[in-house]
Amino acid sequence: MSWFQACPDVTSWGGVLRREHQVATPQWRDEVGPVLREARARKLDILASGARRSYGDSGLNPDGALVNMTGLDRVLSFDPGTAILRAEGGVTFDTLIRLFLPRGFFLPVTPGTRFVTLAGAIANDVHGKNHHGHGTLSRWVRAIGLIRSDGTLHELTPEQEPELFAATLGGLGLTGIIAWADVELMPVSSAVMDVETVSFSSLEAFFDLAQESERDFDYTVAWVDCLAAGKALGRGTFSRANHALDGGLDVAAGRDGRRLAVPMDFPGFVFNRHTVRAFNRVCYSNGRRKAGRGRVPLSRFFYPLDAIENWNRMYGARGMYQYQSVVPVSVQREATRAMLQAISDSGQGSFLAVLKTFGGLRSAGMLSFPFEGTTLALDFPNRGDETLKLMARLDAIVAEAGGRLYPAKDGRMSGAMFRAGYPDWERFAVHVDPHFSSHFWRRVAGLEKACV
Ligand SMILES: Cc1cc2nc3c(=O)[nH]c(=O)nc-3n(C[C@H](O)[C@H](O)[C@H](O)COP(=O)(O)OP(=O)(O)OC[C@H]3O[C@@H](n4cnc5c(N)ncnc54)[C@H](O)[C@@H]3O)c2cc1C
Repeated sequence: MSWFQACPDVTSWGGVLRREHQVATPQWRDEVGPVLREARARKLDILASGARRSYGDSGLNPDGALVNMTGLDRVLSFDPGTAILRAEGGVTFDTLIRLFLPRGFFLPVTPGTRFVTLAGAIANDVHGKNHHGHGTLSRWVRAIGLIRSDGTLHELTPEQEPELFAATLGGLGLTGIIAWADVELMPVSSAVMDVETVSFSSLEAFFDLAQESERDFDYTVAWVDCLAAGKALGRGTFSRANHALDGGLDVAAGRDGRRLAVPMDFPGFVFNRHTVRAFNRVCYSNGRRKAGRGRVPLSRFFYPLDAIENWNRMYGARGMYQYQSVVPVSVQREATRAMLQAISDSGQGSFLAVLKTFGGLRSAGMLSFPFEGTTLALDFPNRGDETLKLMARLDAIVAEAGGRLYPAKDGRMSGAMFRAGYPDWERFAVHVDPHFSSHFWRRVAGLEKACV
């Protein structure tokens, strides 16, 4: 019997690259060893996969094999005194919220979807809207149980095998399989958020609001109208929030009702410059109308997109690229303005353009994405060359600013751009398991085993 099955059309959240993969799905930790042995015997390079919420090709491995780790999703222990949780890597943030929010604990750092696995989030060292106060997830990971391709389990901490630990945090799954991890959760008093929404009319106003809000608000983020031009360039809606001190810990109150679903890929014409421009205008006017303070369920603040299941299918069969950059604080105003100008000029807007300042807390991972500065994240429907050309223009602005792109979102940056943005990549490469690889890694690390 083989552990691996050929699965056609395996893709990531962006849906641009779709290829057949050999996939194994162990359910128990002692099944991982035999899976790895078979992959080695068949000379298949390995990569673990989680909930496949990464957008590009960092979680894909078409010339090798995927080990789908979502079956290893058990909570192993929790100490309410230290708030340290030990859980298998395949457990989702959704499950952790359902189990621990009623007990008064929440994730110290969370991305904009709760449907990610713990190991997937560690492998990308995810950041959230509280980066200015909490940094990235790696700052809250206390230990990792890592299985290497030879089947050995390494218990990694900042003291025990510290280099392999730092390589695994944000290590894109390339150092081995995260079987379990210890993470410190954060105590909270309620399942609801006190949120203030402020509309802003220019990019300068965004930076003023970000600076003014970081002292008093744990969470800050802005949506920008990326098709606005002239004086309105960079206008948008700023949200800032804290966990409410009362309001109860009922997890149902933290959720936001029924989920809608997108049942199929939308036809390509749904996304054109007119619909995108109209959407952005309506969002901006709504933001102005609804500006003010309010109390909302935790999910509505952190995970608005989760309300629509498979929303990525709205981009149609050709999929979409997400482009997420960070530029240093010293040039953040000019570089962000230049990027928004290039996007506005191109008319290839995005429904969801998110702007956020990162604080100065250092991440523990060698390849962690955030540093102090400003991050801009946008979705672009895949229109082939036209879209690639726009992203190449944005690359030039980011590179000149001394910035970099987020591998979790990327499916096309050049090797040169990656290596310039991540100067520690060679220190990292030493720790890559010799039998692990990914489409992304083969593309950017300049390895001779090139992929198409
Ligand atoms: C709507 C949406 C909003 C998002 N918002 C944010 C955000 O605000 N901030 C942010 O940082 N990211 C954000 N992301 C990206 C997302 O958080 C990351 O891509 C996350 O890592 C996905 O986790 P996953 O379980 O889906 O992992 P996958 O996408 O399946 O895999 C991600 C990486 O983890 C590795 N991996 C998975 N399981 C294991 C394992 N057991 N052992 C070793 N390696 C493993 C894979 O090899 C791959 O390299 C968002 C994504 C979406 C779809």
